[in-house]
Amino acid sequence: MLTANVSLFQHIVEIYPLTIKNMPFLASLTLSFSLLTAIFFMVVSFGRRGRWLIALLLILSAQTAYYMDQFGVLMDVVMIGNILHTDALEVKGLFSSSMAFRLVLFGIFPAWLVVKYWPQVSSLSSEVKTRLKCLLLLVVALVAVVLPFTAGYFSFIREHKITRFYANPTYPVYSIIKYGTLELSSDKQLAVVNKTAEDVTHIGPTSRKELVIMVVGETARADRFSLNGYHKDTNPRLAKEDIVSFSNVASCGTSTGVSVPCMFSSLGRKDYEKNKALNQENALDVLAKNGIEVLWRDNNSNSKGVATRIEYQDFKTPTFNPVCEGECRDVGMLHGLDEYIASKKGKDIMIVLHQMGNHGPEYYRRYPKEFAQFQPMCMTGELRDCTQEEVDNSYDNAILYTDYFLSEVIQFLKKYDTDYETAMLYVSDHGESLGEHGVYLHAAPYMMAPKEQTHVTAILWLGQHFDYTLDQVQPYKDSPLSHDDLFCSILIAYELDAGMCTAKKGMLMDNLDIKQLSLNVP
Ligand SMILES: [Zn+2]
Repeated sequence: MLTANVSLFQHIVEIYPLTIKNMPFLASLTLSFSLLTAIFFMVVSFGRRGRWLIALLLILSAQTAYYMDQFGVLMDVVMIGNILHTDALEVKGLFSSSMAFRLVLFGIFPAWLVVKYWPQVSSLSSEVKTRLKCLLLLVVALVAVVLPFTAGYFSFIREHKITRFYANPTYPVYSIIKYGTLELSSDKQLAVVNKTAEDVTHIGPTSRKELVIMVVGETARADRFSLNGYHKDTNPRLAKEDIVSFSNVASCGTSTGVSVPCMFSSLGRKDYEKNKALNQENALDVLAKNGIEVLWRDNNSNSKGVATRIEYQDFKTPTFNPVCEGECRDVGMLHGLDEYIASKKGKDIMIVLHQMGNHGPEYYRRYPKEFAQFQPMCMTGELRDCTQEEVDNSYDNAILYTDYFLSEVIQFLKKYDTDYETAMLYVSDHGESLGEHGVYLHAAPYMMAPKEQTHVTAILWLGQHFDYTLDQVQPYKDSPLSHDDLFCSILIAYELDAGMCTAKKGMLMDNLDIKQLSLNVP
């Protein structure tokens, strides 16, 4: 309670400021959270072996507390999934001397004390008796602490549900158990893949084949693109291209693990569930079964289950990626694509490039030195040790690199503009908090996520023969759009129509009449 719950108490004091009037209730809240934690420990740590569990929980609390205090993150189910799917490279990026110090002082050292000085157990019956006595005492104390403030607790529980997310280690433990049960149930289900958009129809014959490159961005906030009005010039190259930057796009999730599968799924944000999405065909599967050649190239972690049934190439290693200097660069994903396209002659092609983009917290590692244009930069993953200006500069330099990468993708597609209907669609997976309200990074629960984490960039470039023109898209530049619009937009790009897309209301598909856009249809 003393060392691993700073975020919890900060949050409580935000709701009930430290005034004389609030003092009694604050004291009661502090005691009740402590008593609940004690009851939790008392119940789980039975017998002499219980000391190992307590030791483990101390280490876990120290570790989670570090990330909660340092970055303002919450240990919910999504975050547990993110942590477990973090690769060695990302772990290195999150490791720091202050984390190690805190882990040793508040985790490993007390854990060692617990293991060494855990009392001897004389017999099972005496242990049970002692435990029950202790538990009874704790429960009585809890009731005594809560009773005088019943009304206060009712409103606290009703209006500040979120506060429990900060209780350490009880909430992280709850999330780990919930994550485990979800994972176990998903293993059973993955055997069958449910069909999606079975009623696909082709809208009219066209003279040219499609060549679309979709770039899945990483951690790119819309408000950091000068295309969307940012005061620093982060898009010098894209500004020279004929493109549309959609200024009002909401992400499906606040982390890669949620947003990426959701972007390609037909479920939409409100109905999105990880297992459900993984168990049914996504937009790329639908393209593939309709004869389109689909390739996924990944310079991020992986496709998060989206590319399990299509061709997948890992560009995080120098084996495929020729542009690696410390880490492999996004631009390396264009290497060898000419050969790929040549080998698929006469077919429609969809290429997805999954970027490293602005993956944090070490933004300064995400670009070669030529892109270190905004100075001074934050040269550590310990974002709190840097000034706001330094954090902003290193983040913005990474956007500058994405600007370069996307313009390279466009230059690449221009070579094919006479032979193909070409297009590039760039959509970021989620945004990032850069210190606003003391929060860093992303993965906040969606219902309480700040706009910085959900307002994402989406940019469209179209070749001269594409089914519709940028002039037709332009009027919808500032319309409210979201990742939910992607599924049908991808199908439409290949002149595929499905009942679910025609029926779609309110979003891009509704605004941009599908039939009207398919200019080739008489
Ligand atoms: Zn991401």
